[in-house]
Amino acid sequence: MSSLRAVLVHTREVPNEEKGFALLALDRVVGSVVRVVDGGAVGFPTGVRRRVEPWRGKYQYLADDLLTVPQQMWTPGSVVLLLTSVDIYTRGMNYIFGLATRGAAVISSARIHPSFWEALPEMSRYLPEDKQFFAQQLGKVVVHEFGHTVGLPHCERWDCVMRFSNSPFELYRKGSTFCSDCWMRLLRLVHDLAV
Ligand SMILES: [Zn+2]
Ligand SMILES: [Zn+2]
Repeated sequence: MSSLRAVLVHTREVPNEEKGFALLALDRVVGSVVRVVDGGAVGFPTGVRRRVEPWRGKYQYLADDLLTVPQQMWTPGSVVLLLTSVDIYTRGMNYIFGLATRGAAVISSARIHPSFWEALPEMSRYLPEDKQFFAQQLGKVVVHEFGHTVGLPHCERWDCVMRFSNSPFELYRKGSTFCSDCWMRLLRLVHDLAV
């Protein structure tokens, strides 16, 4: 039986545990209709544009440039997702959790953990040491970007993983799986993309 492959690659600095969380989430949510593949590590590409992010004074990388890595790895019958732990942005945004086009996506784990946001008082209700919580939020971003790679648009429903998240609070609040409408759409898209 033919099926779509979702290949997850990661830049070398990503901890193995994080990669494991991402693969597990993908497999749990779409594993019944997609073959989830660990594509291993890739070197951080050279020439990626970066800027100094004013809040923390640390480098932030242009997601559009990073996206060329999974785009170049793309083959028919697959989508390729690149997981990185560097902070990313795109034009007009202070930061983003992920960026996707059809067939390829970039996911950053940098701002998913509540400890990134510890200066914000509202964060006190999230436990920084809670690994399961982090795994769940990272899983949402990975599954969301996967949805974009097969062609799913955003969804307004709060219980749906395709809801757009503009902040950690929105990410933490939204659902981990697809609503029934998005799931039905996803099934058709995945079927059409399989070779
Ligand atoms: Zn999105
Ligand atoms: Zn939905």
